[in-house]
Amino acid sequence: MCSPEIAKVVSERIAREGRPQLSRRNLLKAGSASALGLAFASFAAPARRAAAQGEAGFEVIDLSHVFGPDMPVYTLGEEPTRETYLSVEENGYFIQYWTFYEHVGTHCDFPAHFIADGETVDNFGAGQLVSRAVVINIAAKAAENADAMLEVADIEAWEAEHGEIPTGAVVFMNSGWASRWPNEDFRNADAEGGQHYPGFSGEAVTWLLENRGINGIGVDTLSLDPGNSATFDAHYAVCGNGIYGVENTANLDALEGADNAIVIIGIPRWEGSGGGPTRVLALVGA
Ligand SMILES: [Zn+2]
Repeated sequence: MCSPEIAKVVSERIAREGRPQLSRRNLLKAGSASALGLAFASFAAPARRAAAQGEAGFEVIDLSHVFGPDMPVYTLGEEPTRETYLSVEENGYFIQYWTFYEHVGTHCDFPAHFIADGETVDNFGAGQLVSRAVVINIAAKAAENADAMLEVADIEAWEAEHGEIPTGAVVFMNSGWASRWPNEDFRNADAEGGQHYPGFSGEAVTWLLENRGINGIGVDTLSLDPGNSATFDAHYAVCGNGIYGVENTANLDALEGADNAIVIIGIPRWEGSGGGPTRVLALVGA
């Protein structure tokens, strides 16, 4: 809604009639998320209120952090900015002016992020963005060693318990790091500025590509590679092989153990981009 005329009509109606009132039946139909006030609660308590029972009977888990200027970022100084461009009080409607680099917040890396002629976001069809979700937990070893990696042995251990990872899955690393968001120990820089958090090993990504035909990987840290990597083997394997990676995911604990969960990589069709901010949603019981 951006026409001043529409804004004028709507604000006059609200001044005259108040906010539109839904009947109780319509309120229920509008979904339990809005009925429970989750749209607002998610700012205050994203982890506790992450899961909402949709009206179709499946659970929706939000794997995204709130996007804002105070998020931890890979390169200091690349935090987004936002300012009020127009306000309801002064202009009749509300629009903000944002600036952000593509690779901040919960976001995806597509091949063009690392490869000069690599595929961009808009090259990917919707069918590649809806996948089975698998979560592999390495929180125990990450608690011992911030530079820990998700290795082939972790995949094999997961499969021994849960069965083979389905073709076309997105495989997430749950290192327990999301509980540190948005504090400084999420980025976890040492005195020299080196970052320390877990990531995928390049061998693990290559194994998943060769043996399980994955659509992508995801991490709950700032980078697909561990923070201390100088060779970026996981990025190299992901981008070099034409798949995508998701960084800074949230709430993987809630997804763990769910059978046949589906993940939706809700990235806008950023033209010519090597990635960008993404709403990542998991459906459980769908
Ligand atoms: Zn990125």
